[in-house]
Amino acid sequence: MILEAPKLLRIANIRTEMRGPMVSNKSGKKTTIWWIRRDLRLEDNRALNAALEEGDEVIPLFVIDPTLVNSARMGDQRLGFLWDGLRKLQDALRERGADLVVKRGDPLQVLPAVVKKSGAVRVHAEKDYTPYARRRDGKVKEQVPLVLNSGLTIAHPDDIRTNDGGPYQVYSYYMRKWKDRFLDGGMGNTLPAPARIPYHAALNGESIPEHPRLPERVPFSAGEIEAQKRLKSFAAGEDPPVYDYDTLRDRPDLDGTSKLSPYLHLGMISARQVVSAAERALQRAPDKDSARSAETWLEELIWRDFYIAILYHFPSVLERNFRDAYDPLVWRSDEDAFARWKEGKTGYPMVDAGMRQLLDTGWMHNRVRMVAASFLVKDLLIDWRWGETWFMKRLVDTDLAANNGGWQWVAGTGTDASPYFRIFNPISQSEKHDPEGAYIRRYLPELAGVPGAFIHQPWKMPLEVQRESGCIIGEDYPQPLVDHSQARERTLKAYQEAREKSEGET
Ligand code: FAD
Repeated sequence: MILEAPKLLRIANIRTEMRGPMVSNKSGKKTTIWWIRRDLRLEDNRALNAALEEGDEVIPLFVIDPTLVNSARMGDQRLGFLWDGLRKLQDALRERGADLVVKRGDPLQVLPAVVKKSGAVRVHAEKDYTPYARRRDGKVKEQVPLVLNSGLTIAHPDDIRTNDGGPYQVYSYYMRKWKDRFLDGGMGNTLPAPARIPYHAALNGESIPEHPRLPERVPFSAGEIEAQKRLKSFAAGEDPPVYDYDTLRDRPDLDGTSKLSPYLHLGMISARQVVSAAERALQRAPDKDSARSAETWLEELIWRDFYIAILYHFPSVLERNFRDAYDPLVWRSDEDAFARWKEGKTGYPMVDAGMRQLLDTGWMHNRVRMVAASFLVKDLLIDWRWGETWFMKRLVDTDLAANNGGWQWVAGTGTDASPYFRIFNPISQSEKHDPEGAYIRRYLPELAGVPGAFIHQPWKMPLEVQRESGCIIGEDYPQPLVDHSQARERTLKAYQEAREKSEGET
């Protein structure tokens, strides 16, 4: 939906912090800057609308921040997705009479220079809650009049508090309060995309980088249009259908989830649009089971807000266990085993299929993320931080908060964590969630001819069957890296010892 007069928009509930020196504009026209960070969209964008509301003309600005793009945690697929997303945004801006200005450098230097050169009266951006973003924005605010608008999440991390005023550390309680506050109209309406964007054209920028390109095998084409298409199809119960989410979401062999995570991460669609769609699907559900499915999906979206709030209130989780009871845990620094895990050569088909899916496509199904992460931490006893960093580098949907939350949950060291003695069995998980082995065969072509009876434990194939299926264990596909039962015992012991040590210290 588009709107003719963005200036008439009166945006409800905008969290704005208007501070910093006012800057005068020599041309007489009021210029504002829309500083684009993780909001690569025109629909339901409060920062853009605030910039349009205040300014006669707007500069849509993207700053290529070397600290972020050159970080050891930044992967080529994510960067390729970002550049493609910027190209799509640039097209959409040009269709509306504007353009995208791209600058490279430290935002602390770029923003003041752009403000000075353009005479902009204010910079409008969407609030980001990572520790780096908060530090950066705090410093930028000291130099230019920066206004931060909500939009990345539904709940601001300070919105949902316990009765004592502290942050929630248990998801189920957080989720209940979140629902009370934001369902049934609590989120407000989404904003339409502006039809025209009056543009301040006096600035030169640089081109959007051509490299790295997003490989074709990555099944995510960037941009707002694609994100909207996916949301529409999923939430309308079409393909894949939200109303089957409860039954399909744990099946990596089937396409049962929305695959919106990369778009949500870079704001190619707003959290409010997605959550509103989930709420509508819930209200329109044709029966109880369908309603339960829509609600489960809504609750996954609430996990996103929850982990963003956890990272906001406990930034040390990026380096440390959330539960310090496990700090004395002695991890195995086994580089060879780690390399085999990364390459998808552990000998456990579901783990390997997941790790190859990640290498090939930049994405991994949620159930398999849990199984593969558990294998690294609980079977190999390798520090979750090694795995977290690898996922950060390879995933196209990498999100600091969700990734850290997922890893600490699996490791049993996080908030609301699965108890340390709950250890995923990579064989039974595989049998349960990929019953025919279709997912395994898709990503492990060397197992394509293995009969169903052995697909979850190929090392059990008699030599004759190995020959017939064209897969010799130890040559075409590895022997298991560890024996799961023995590895389980070793891990339980290590966790138990860590707890005892930590209890002895207190
Ligand atoms: P759907 O099932 O359709 O869910 C809709 C949306 O809800 C997702 O797009 C996502 O934004 C949110 N969501 C769903 N599950 C979770 C969750 N457990 N935590 C937080 N948000 C959630 N998700 C990321 O977005 N980025 C990551 O870097 C990431 N790393 C993970 C690492 C591990 C070890 C684990 C176990 C999970 C991780 N997740 C991460 C969560 C989850 O795997 C993905 O969000 C999900 O697979 C994305 O697929 P989808 O869009 O089809 O999700």
